[in-house]
Amino acid sequence: MSDDRIRIFDTTLRDGEQSPGCSMNLPEKLTLARQLARLGVDVIEAGFAIASEGDYEAIRAVAAEIGDTTIASLARTGIGDIDRAGQALEQARHSRIHTFIATSEIHLEHKLKMGREQVLEEVDAAVRRARQFTDDVEFSAEDATRTDSDYLVQVFRCAVDAGATTLNVPDTVGYTTPVEYHDLIRYLRANIPGSEDLIFSLHCHNDLGLAVANSLAAIQAGARQVECTVNGIGERAGNTAMEEVVMALKTRPDAFEGLDTRVNTTEIYPTSRLLSSIIGVPVQPNKAIVGDNAFAHEAGIHQHGVLENALTYEIMTPQSIGRASNELVLGKHSGRHAFKDRLLELGYELGDDEFQRAFKQFKDLADRKKVIYNEDLESIVGESVVTHEGRFRLGNLVIQSGTFATPNATVELIVDGEAQKQTAQGSGPVDAVFKAIAAITETKAELLTYQVKAITGGLDAQGEVTVIITEDNRRVIGHGAHTDIIVASGRAYVNAINKLEWTVGRKAADGPRGI
Ligand code: MN
Repeated sequence: MSDDRIRIFDTTLRDGEQSPGCSMNLPEKLTLARQLARLGVDVIEAGFAIASEGDYEAIRAVAAEIGDTTIASLARTGIGDIDRAGQALEQARHSRIHTFIATSEIHLEHKLKMGREQVLEEVDAAVRRARQFTDDVEFSAEDATRTDSDYLVQVFRCAVDAGATTLNVPDTVGYTTPVEYHDLIRYLRANIPGSEDLIFSLHCHNDLGLAVANSLAAIQAGARQVECTVNGIGERAGNTAMEEVVMALKTRPDAFEGLDTRVNTTEIYPTSRLLSSIIGVPVQPNKAIVGDNAFAHEAGIHQHGVLENALTYEIMTPQSIGRASNELVLGKHSGRHAFKDRLLELGYELGDDEFQRAFKQFKDLADRKKVIYNEDLESIVGESVVTHEGRFRLGNLVIQSGTFATPNATVELIVDGEAQKQTAQGSGPVDAVFKAIAAITETKAELLTYQVKAITGGLDAQGEVTVIITEDNRRVIGHGAHTDIIVASGRAYVNAINKLEWTVGRKAADGPRGI
C-alpha cells in the first residue's frame, strides 16, 4: 500500500517479553497494554498464545479490554497454534493472527527438517486456517534476510493467495544492512503481484546495532509497518526501538517524504518509564530519545547556545516526547485527584483496588518524605500493581543489627490473609529478614541478584531494592521501595516470591520461541 502512514506494530509484550529478565505477569501486561493504546500504536502483539498458559491468558485479557487497537497473537503454522491464537483473540474487536515459518535453507535443513514444497503447503494451510478466525492475517517468513530471494517471493505469493494481507520480512538474526534490506523490500514489492494492496512489514534485531537504521531503510523502500518494542527490548541485543523510529520520522519529514505514524509522541517517555519500572531494567543513560542524558547539555558552550536558542543544539524538544521539565510533583497535602492525574500523566491507569492501595502507599510515603517525585510514584505503582497479586504480603518487621550482636529479624507475613511470624538470624539484617521470609513461604528459590539504589536525591530519599530469584529455570524480578532499606528489601523479596508463584504452570521455561 503506497499511502503515507506508517503502522506501528508493537511487540513489547511478545518479542520483548520473551527476552531474558523481561518477563511480565498478567496485571503488568495489562497495565502496559493500556499505555500502548494511549500511545497510539496500531497493533499490539500481546503474546504467543500456544507458548504458555500465561501468554494465552494475557492475550485474552488484553483483547477483552483494549478496544480500538488491533490485538495480535503469534502462531506457528500448525493447526493447534492457529486455533489457540484464534481462541485467545475471541473477544478482540480487531484481531490479527500473525503466523510464521522459517524459510532460509539453514532453518529448513536444521530446524524444520522440511523441504521447500512442504513449507509452502504449511504456509497455505496456516493462512487459510487463520482466515477462518479473522480477515486480518499477517504472515512472517522467519529468517527472511538469509532466504533465497526467489524462494521468498514464492512463499509470500503463497501466503497472499491464501489470504494474508500483511507480509513481514524479519531480519530474525540481526544480519542485514540498510542498503541490502532496502533492496530486498523493493525486490519483493516489485515481484509479488498485487503488492500495492499489501502491507509490507519489517522486523529487525539489533545484533549489529543496525535495527533502527535497517527499519528506516525498509520504510524508504516502501514498507509501511514497523515491528518494534518500547526501549528496544527483545531477544539478544533487542528489537527496533519504537521511540527512535517514531522520532526519526517526526524530526526528519524531509528525509522520509512526510511519512508519519499515528503515535502521540508525548506519551513516549511515560511509556518508556512505565516499561522500565515494570521489568526492572533501566534504560542506558545515553540511549537515544529516552535515556537520562538524551537531552542533557553538559558542555558549557552547548549550554550557552541552548539558552540563547534551543535549536542551536536541540533537534527535538524534551516536551515533544512527554518529558516534563517540572520534576517536582506532589506532597503531603495532595489529594486523590491530583494523585490520579499525575499517575495518568505518567502512563498509569489503575483499576479501583490498585488505585486504593497505591493511594494509601502514597499517603504513607508523604508522611515520611517531604517531596514526592515521579520516580517515587513509579515505584509505588510498581508495587501496588504487582505485590498484592500474590499470596504473601509483608506485615511488620523488626531487626537487630550492628557490631555487638548477631543480626536477627522477626518478620510478620500475611499469608492468604492470615498473619504468621518468624524469627531468623543472618550474616546481616537483610540476610536475616530474607531467611525469615523464606522459612514462612517455604520458597526453594535461589537469590541471584540483590541491588539497592536511592530513587531520588536527598537524605529522605527512598531506597529501592531489586532482587532477582530463580527456581526451575524460571527467573523473576522483585521490587520494593521504602525510606527504610530493610523494609524495602523485605518487600522486594516478597514481591519476587509472589511473582514466582504466579509463573508456576503459566510460563513455559522452554516453550517455543517466536521470530
Ligand atoms: Mn524477533
